[in-house]
Amino acid sequence: MEKENLFGKSLSEIKVITDNYNLPGFTAKQIASWMYQKNVSSIDEMTNLSKKARESLSNDFFLKKDNHTKCESSSDGTKKYLFPIKDKFVEAAYIPEEDRSTLCVSSQVGCKMGCLFCLTGKQGYQGNLSSGEILNQIYSLPEKENLTNIVYMGMGEPMDNIDNVLTSLETLTSEYGQAWSPKRITVSTIGIIPSMEKFLTQSKCHLAISLHNPFHEERLKIMPIENVYPINDIITLLKNHDFGRQRRVSFEYIMFKGFNDSQNHIKGLTQLLNGLRCRVNLIRFHSIPGTPLEGSDEKTIQEFKTALNNKGITTTIRASRGQDISAACGMLSTKSLLKNQEKNY
Ligand code: SF4
Repeated sequence: MEKENLFGKSLSEIKVITDNYNLPGFTAKQIASWMYQKNVSSIDEMTNLSKKARESLSNDFFLKKDNHTKCESSSDGTKKYLFPIKDKFVEAAYIPEEDRSTLCVSSQVGCKMGCLFCLTGKQGYQGNLSSGEILNQIYSLPEKENLTNIVYMGMGEPMDNIDNVLTSLETLTSEYGQAWSPKRITVSTIGIIPSMEKFLTQSKCHLAISLHNPFHEERLKIMPIENVYPINDIITLLKNHDFGRQRRVSFEYIMFKGFNDSQNHIKGLTQLLNGLRCRVNLIRFHSIPGTPLEGSDEKTIQEFKTALNNKGITTTIRASRGQDISAACGMLSTKSLLKNQEKNY
């Protein structure tokens, strides 16, 4: 049997392993604590396990986290880290602000969803990240101790890798792991309904929907997923779910000139979101090669925000960070992999 990495396994998965070795019931918790709370980097460092237990485990398992191989720093303080994943790479963006520090993590290598405005989508899909590979971006971050928030908005569609995403969320929020409040974590999706249902019942983290247009025919032009899970079905699911007072649903709306920034779109959004307690984040579009889309001008964005707020929809404009190092929204892409595809744009 090929040796397996223990890092990323949930408590119940570790329990199955320790049961196989006939180790005492509490051993699984001890292992989880060493990995996720004390952040050790080898089984040998788990010194409250018997020597025999450590030797047995080491026959079939190892404990490994991977440091980043590259870091780019933006003039605004944002940092983009490149993490190796087997023979591939993913990116994570660290965004420090005055009162918080957010890490934007990736959930897949590339993405298969093909959204017209997204550089990751242009890279194509190269695989899912395991729970350990998702957690590695957090645990190997030099600024880990400063983190106040995590957003699953990096490369990939989290709901297309829901089981590994849920395991990583469990580790981050459980007592045996980081014991983070789920209110500090937001998972984004373009709206894969079966996985959203699973996420809503199995996690308490916030949800962000990539909306970008309230109208089916128009959304379809930039997001192929609309063909499978139309926006109206997504909204119906959300309206039927009890989010309680603590849990938040928000909508990401990239502003495209002449495509989704008219009075008609304000009306469409108001009707679509009517009755749903939510907020809208307007995002400036960062031009990428090979797309006919352009960003709305600043005046239109400001007026759009004011109009939605006047209609009773809490709306903010997301500050753009890390644009000079291609770390801003929709710009994450492992350039070395992308290089060969540039001629296909
Ligand atoms: Fe994939 Fe998200 Fe980019 Fe769409 S926006 S292609 S779902 S990473």
